[in-house]
Amino acid sequence: MEGYIINALAMNGTVRVLAADTTNIAREAQKLHMTSPAATAALGRTLTACVMMASLLKGEKDTITIQIKGDGLLGSIVSVADSKGNVRGYVNNPDIDIPLKNKGKLDVGGAVGNNGYVTVIKDLGLKEPYVGQVKLVSGEIAEDIAYYLACSEQIPSAVALGVLIEQDGSVVSSGGFLIQLMPDAGEESADFLEERIRQTEPISVLLARGMKPENIIEHLLENKDFRIVSNTPCKYKCYCSRERMERNLLSLGRKEIEDIIAEQGDAELQCHFCNAKYFFTREELQKIVSQ
Ligand code: ZN
Repeated sequence: MEGYIINALAMNGTVRVLAADTTNIAREAQKLHMTSPAATAALGRTLTACVMMASLLKGEKDTITIQIKGDGLLGSIVSVADSKGNVRGYVNNPDIDIPLKNKGKLDVGGAVGNNGYVTVIKDLGLKEPYVGQVKLVSGEIAEDIAYYLACSEQIPSAVALGVLIEQDGSVVSSGGFLIQLMPDAGEESADFLEERIRQTEPISVLLARGMKPENIIEHLLENKDFRIVSNTPCKYKCYCSRERMERNLLSLGRKEIEDIIAEQGDAELQCHFCNAKYFFTREELQKIVSQ
């Protein structure tokens, strides 16, 4: 089943609410990277935040990269998404697992670590990408992204991200919501939403119960009016190709490629995002050097 992101405006256009079902994305990431439960949850949350934020970009080719780099065992988590709902990502140490917290909850913050940074790179097709960075708050990712949006982009935001994982490690549900207050949103709206968010169960539980993103928005707004602005299908998609890998090789520089030829003769490159392998023979490497 395909996932999707609903983007809605409420309270006379002063509040934006995004809700996403990314179950398909978390499952695909788990399959590609053979992630442990903790890694599945951490990567799934990051992919969800990334694809929701990217769905707000205007340009067709605009992209957002999120890097979460904590001092936990998972290492860095990287995710890249475009405005059309395509997202890909990886985690440095996908097989790291950690003991469960109380009530059987996954300790994502412990696996990510809370000393480190969230870095967001927005490539909007301008000469230079926009880069923002804040310190991690908890490593739980949703809080960290909310803090980034508040500090770096000055948008008061509430973010919820969740991946529900079965005992056997399979992904039951994955999704998130993102609520943003526009500059003209009133104090009352802010208080109302804060209370609603406090009362709402985890998003992964709502999805597992069969709620769709639009139902979750209804639920969050307690039947207040809202207008759906867009519905963006989302999926895990990698764009790697032999040509891209050749460009990566080229970017290493002549010296580096000559060293590879001297030491190994040929080279096998693996895509971080989907683990596809690309093989280059000695002759092909020499051709790349001569370019
Ligand atoms: Zn790939």
